[in-house]
Amino acid sequence: MKIGRIKHNDKVSHVEIDGDKASIISGDIFGSWSKTEDKVPPSNVELLAPVDPQQVIALGLNYRGHAGEFNEALPEEPLLFLKGVNAVTGPGQPIVLPAMAPDEVDYEAELVIVMGKQAKNVSEDEAGDYVLGYTCGNDVSARDCQLRRDSQWARGKGFDTFAPIGPWIETDIDPDNLDISCTLNGQIMQESNTSDLIFSCRKLVAFLSRCMTLYPGSVIMTGTPSGVGVKRKPPVFLGDGDTVTVEIEGIGKLTNHVVSETS
Ligand code: ZN
Repeated sequence: MKIGRIKHNDKVSHVEIDGDKASIISGDIFGSWSKTEDKVPPSNVELLAPVDPQQVIALGLNYRGHAGEFNEALPEEPLLFLKGVNAVTGPGQPIVLPAMAPDEVDYEAELVIVMGKQAKNVSEDEAGDYVLGYTCGNDVSARDCQLRRDSQWARGKGFDTFAPIGPWIETDIDPDNLDISCTLNGQIMQESNTSDLIFSCRKLVAFLSRCMTLYPGSVIMTGTPSGVGVKRKPPVFLGDGDTVTVEIEGIGKLTNHVVSETS
């Protein structure tokens, strides 16, 4: 099942998307809900980020290939960081190159876990029961801030619009073997499979729930495969007018265009 979020007649609603029909959901997607007879064609409405999360948790160096391109040893524990909720944006919305750091903004295609229930100290075996589903994400990163100007990642990973997620949540999917890619202006930049993840989704939910309470709607960006712009020779960074698409098998495509804050 695909669950999206739309703005329709000035009202924000969750919808169940089935082919070219979206049925408006009544109730709470994290509690009890039902489909109404009210259907809208998805092409007529603006899809928003599928959830409005309280937390955006992200993982560094979680693909073997990506740890390799940074010449980093494989981590023994998940390396986590937080992105601000201000960074969340939806499909079709612009990624804004910040005036303060416009020159080294990079893409990172990521599988995103959407939590369905509050979780604290859950085991790997029960982790899946706490997950609502999965969506696509782009962990946009200002590399100059992340790698040189600052000694930690809050600014480089936290500018407004630096966490596009969507287009919807797929609830019936095995996250452990999905093709994932990132395309920039039609050219494939990242191409991998979630089977290359060092820590699986199940392991991440269990580990993170031992660090902090996870809330319904919280999103976990699970890390990016190799092929990021900063490690290409020569490096490739996002520029005004670019189009970047994250695609995950069985979920869909998340496309955003890039604009300059100053233009
Ligand atoms: Zn990332």
